[in-house]
Amino acid sequence: MSTIFKKIIDREIPADIVYETDDVLAFKDIAPRAPVHILIIPKKEIATVNDVADEDAPVMGQLFVAAKHIAQAQGIAESGYRLIMNVGDHGGQEVYHVHLHLIGGHPVGPMTVKKK
Ligand code: AMP
Repeated sequence: MSTIFKKIIDREIPADIVYETDDVLAFKDIAPRAPVHILIIPKKEIATVNDVADEDAPVMGQLFVAAKHIAQAQGIAESGYRLIMNVGDHGGQEVYHVHLHLIGGHPVGPMTVKKK
């Protein structure tokens, strides 16, 4: 089933697009958790990592190539950043179109909430 990200790919709704290739699109998160918060998505509709097929390996790799270029363009390559891909319910995934969060611009804190 298509998501709001498909509408962004098809330019049916606006987004602040920062990077695009034939297979990959990246745009600013609408509710940023850090000074830099960009979503990097394959144009192919893949719901979750559980749905990634062998043939999707190149485009999944291109998400990381995009992340490198975007981090450089945003001036955070040297200071560092975090890449996150949430998967399913327990992973906190809200939009079921695979996406890589690129988050940085300040120290992003612990990777997960520590158990008490
Ligand atoms: P996740 O929880 O990993 O599925 O992340 C989904 C992300 O999509 C959230 O950080 C939302 O803020 C973001 N988001 C939802 N709708 C839009 C939109 N129209 N444009 C940009 N980001 C969006």
